[in-house]
Amino acid sequence: MDSLIFDQSRLFQYSLIYKKVKHVHAWSKRYQKNMPEMQKNTMEVIILGSGTCAPSIRRAGPCACLRAYGQTFMIDSAAGTLRQMARAGIPYDSIDTILYTHFHPDHIGEFVPFIFATKYAPGYRRSAPVMIFAAQGLKNFYNAMKMAFGNWVEPEEGRVIMEELSCETPAAIQSPPFIIRSAPVKHTPQSLAYRIECPNGKTAVFSGDTDLCKNIIDIAAGADILVCECAAPEGEKVQGHLTPSEAGSIANEAGVKTLVLTHFYPDCDKHDVTGPCRAIYKDGPIILAEDFMRVII
Ligand SMILES: [Zn+2]
Ligand SMILES: [Zn+2]
Repeated sequence: MDSLIFDQSRLFQYSLIYKKVKHVHAWSKRYQKNMPEMQKNTMEVIILGSGTCAPSIRRAGPCACLRAYGQTFMIDSAAGTLRQMARAGIPYDSIDTILYTHFHPDHIGEFVPFIFATKYAPGYRRSAPVMIFAAQGLKNFYNAMKMAFGNWVEPEEGRVIMEELSCETPAAIQSPPFIIRSAPVKHTPQSLAYRIECPNGKTAVFSGDTDLCKNIIDIAAGADILVCECAAPEGEKVQGHLTPSEAGSIANEAGVKTLVLTHFYPDCDKHDVTGPCRAIYKDGPIILAEDFMRVII
């Protein structure tokens, strides 16, 4: 992680958010109280959608959850994510933090329906805010949605806090008890990968959509788990995305301990994905994501 700048000015800015985040922490402690001891020391990644924008019976659009220390993160939310959560048994009022990797519709499609659901569904008992992070442009995106939907998508006071992260430099956010890091990656000008560091040293990294670039290798350094996009099969490279061998080279160079490949276009299911990846990444398990898969680290 040495090559990632721990941006002190940004950290100061985020310390303003910190007070609000403490409410989130207090809320999650309620979950934590009843949690078995084992769960306090592990991270659980739950894949809710292993697909893309291309419709697939097998794979929903991109979404993953991370559960650790009694908190739940959601990374991206394709249209249909609320239903996927219900099927996975994840209460939608248990989400503490949402990290959007970029603004492509298949990654952010459930953003507005989620906010709408926090307002009206009787099942939403949470009073603590949900923190939503994305690259610069999040607030413009939200305001445009509000232009279209009006006050229907204005959250209740204090329920949703949106914060923008740099599209140009890596950033670090204190979100107790975690440190969340972001780094711009090569996909769109507003694409970020995220790294979530637990106090016990365990680390999960989510690539979002990306092509090969230095930042994804840097932010994934030594990660216990890297959930990495692998959109196209070997030999069918799509610009802005990774092939299995490229995902393998990232995991190899970063020294990742477990690699989860996801974000499969339907074509991937007709090809050998593991083989070309394994030819390069030899140090840990390669897991091909399926919807509702749970990986405990
Ligand atoms: Zn994309
Ligand atoms: Zn995508």
